[in-house]
Amino acid sequence: MPANYCEVALPVPLRSLFTYAIPENLADSLCAGSRVLVPFRNRAMTGVVVELSTRRPDPGQIKNVREIAEVLDPIPALPPKLVELGRWVSGYYVAPIGEVFRAMLPPQIDLRHEREILLTEAGRTRRAELDAAGNRSESEVAELALLSLLEIEGRPVRADRLRKLPGGEAAAERLLRRRQLEAREVAVRRRARAQKIVAWNEAYSANSSPASPAAELPEKEARVFHVLAEERGPLPLPHLAKLASVSRPLIERMIRQEKLKSWEEPLAAEEDFFDADYTPPSNQLNADQQRELSVVRGWIDAGGFNTSLLYGVTGSGKTEVYLGAVEAALARNKSALVLVPEIALTLWLGRLCRARLGAGVAVLHSALPEVERAREWWRVRRGEARVVVGTRSAVFAPVENLGLVVVDEEQEASYKQEETPRYHGRDVAVVRAKMEGAVALLGSATPSLESFQNARSGKYHLLQLDSRVENRPLAPVEIVDLREDFKATHRTGPISSKLSEAIAGRLASGTQSLILINRRGYSWFVLCRSCGASIQCENCSISLAYHKQRARLECHYCGFSRRVPDTCPKCGAEHVYFFGAGSEQLEEKLREKFPGAKVARLDRDSVRTKRAYQQVLGDFASGKIDILVGTQMVAKGHDFQRVTLVGVVSADSQLSLPDFRAAERTFQLLTQVAGRAGRGMLPGEVLVETYYPEHYAIQLAARQDYISFFEKEQQFRRLLHYPPFTALASILVRDTKIENAIRWSRQLSAFLAPQESRGVKVLGPAAAPLARLKREYRFQFLLKAPKRAHLRRALAELLAFAEQKEIPQKAILVDVDPLSLF
Ligand code: ADP
Ligand code: ZN
Repeated sequence: MPANYCEVALPVPLRSLFTYAIPENLADSLCAGSRVLVPFRNRAMTGVVVELSTRRPDPGQIKNVREIAEVLDPIPALPPKLVELGRWVSGYYVAPIGEVFRAMLPPQIDLRHEREILLTEAGRTRRAELDAAGNRSESEVAELALLSLLEIEGRPVRADRLRKLPGGEAAAERLLRRRQLEAREVAVRRRARAQKIVAWNEAYSANSSPASPAAELPEKEARVFHVLAEERGPLPLPHLAKLASVSRPLIERMIRQEKLKSWEEPLAAEEDFFDADYTPPSNQLNADQQRELSVVRGWIDAGGFNTSLLYGVTGSGKTEVYLGAVEAALARNKSALVLVPEIALTLWLGRLCRARLGAGVAVLHSALPEVERAREWWRVRRGEARVVVGTRSAVFAPVENLGLVVVDEEQEASYKQEETPRYHGRDVAVVRAKMEGAVALLGSATPSLESFQNARSGKYHLLQLDSRVENRPLAPVEIVDLREDFKATHRTGPISSKLSEAIAGRLASGTQSLILINRRGYSWFVLCRSCGASIQCENCSISLAYHKQRARLECHYCGFSRRVPDTCPKCGAEHVYFFGAGSEQLEEKLREKFPGAKVARLDRDSVRTKRAYQQVLGDFASGKIDILVGTQMVAKGHDFQRVTLVGVVSADSQLSLPDFRAAERTFQLLTQVAGRAGRGMLPGEVLVETYYPEHYAIQLAARQDYISFFEKEQQFRRLLHYPPFTALASILVRDTKIENAIRWSRQLSAFLAPQESRGVKVLGPAAAPLARLKREYRFQFLLKAPKRAHLRRALAELLAFAEQKEIPQKAILVDVDPLSLF
């Protein structure tokens, strides 16, 4: 019996699925995983069919059940395993199922949403009245014109056509408010996009006298000939312009002169044409790499689910192990997914994979233009690319026959999505591998406590690379005690005398320095010395940071900014002081101190585009910059060969945050950044400036001793009942009105109290560490449970309770396995 109904996930913040009837003519083309177009309220929406059913909905509801309007793709967008994964994500992270599936779908480039306006009965009456009236005001004239147009057309009209009438926009709004018009949204299919392909016209060559037409062509045209006829063959027009370094009009002119032929082709995936002249390093694997790779290969060959943690110090050559594992999966005719924590790394690794593996490699990340992302996505879905390199959301890439999932730098916070659905890419990767019987390989130099504990307990296999390739030494790390520095120099500033000397040494020897600082801006704290008040954001309970170049005080959380006051806004005194150096100040001080040096800065203020970012990194790699100052953007993954000094300024700024992961994060950051030194042939040195030189996170990072750090940190976590020894969830209750936030918190608190006897410990409600953010007051609960099942039950019941009490959905923010409590 064919299914008559189906359950559809729609991109709305509601926790339910929606039932639709399947019209007979669509029955054959529709299955679980299909993208469909459905009417929802007065809109057309795209959703995903999650399941089919032959059961009739309840008689009370059946009259409300509407029909599927259209099935959007010939093959279902999501393969069955991804539908299953979506349901798991929604359940585990208690996230609305429609929003989960929205995150899993490709960008919608084939549909356009339009507003249509209809005439109602009341509108017809109004038109007749206006028509009969003797003298009409200006606005009545506009209304009459608009109503008449709709009457004459006799069917809905696109809203933008009405807007073009004189006074049309305002008139339409008035009529809509009075219900004399009605609006609805419809979806219209876009025509498939096409691109112009250009080729050399052989007929033109045949008519020309010399053997090669290049001889008699002007120089630029000869270059075009060379690229098209001798080097590459037919190319999309923009690619040709770039490769031959000529302008588009020049190519257009050559087409008119029939030197070139051209035609339109639907947009298809082009291999990245920058690859042409790239030769990847060909490394002979050392004994450690071979040993661990052969273990992974054994699992891939055996087939079946398996998770391992590859713990290898920075520069130990983990990438080679990943690539070898991907090769093994491809050899078994399986596909592979490689997740990296940062967009810049997808480009680098994608290129490496393409050059090494030849097979179709797709790159997926959120910064790709939508058309390109959709194209890559569908290439993967059609099986044309069997290797996917991407950031967090690529964990949902629609590959089939999955053999391997790699998660590089598995400890990185960027794997956690900090908006709904709040999933962790690494954890979803492991679950996906389990569902599909694939091998999960997590890699890190500083594994998260969770993963290392899993390796300890035997849940994951532990693989290890103990030394750097070619036995290059890890750079020695020295801790600079800023209290001592102050005693000796009686000056405070971001650059201690030790760091200053070290930089001078590098300038003299012609090698490079990399200086990490954890804050952007000039100063991150503005204080009145008279009344002691710090200048706070209007919307958030946080101090504003001073940005000197822009001459503004800015909030790094909501973007609020104001001009720099001459006097204290609280007491009017003229003693406004700036504290705490940020990256902008550090750059300025370095320029002052080392006038001859080439100094550059890399942070979100100094580079706003991907191109600028790559430019700075490129300049640094090629030696055009002596000293690079940056925020944690510079700490990750990059392989700079000539850096012999890494300085870390205010290394401890995170340690004072009220967050149980503060020590772990500090340790990871310091170890990662220290790993940037001495990667080439030249030995390196690392200086870490701090006010807490005795803190274990700093001490052990300086010794690059992960194991001891893990031992120490896991004791605290066990003692204080934090992950990985307890399942944790954070619940924020938030509203712009503090009374609401308090009332709802009280209701939830009363509901949660009895949970204590059911295996869940409840902390709070307390003012959240950021008690006010973006104008909303925030109260926080923490739920801890030794057994995850207990936590899940409590959360499900809590959300049901909140719904019953009509607490708005957006007022309650649940974060399962939160990474940051701040
Ligand atoms: P990790 O990710 O473990 O920090 P990478 O994979 O980035 O380390 O490797 C560090 C550097 O060592 C890279 O430049 C890489 O090309 C090189 N490398 C890797 N394996 C070898 C090897 N067996 N012999 C020589 N160089 C190697
Ligand atoms: Zn703010």
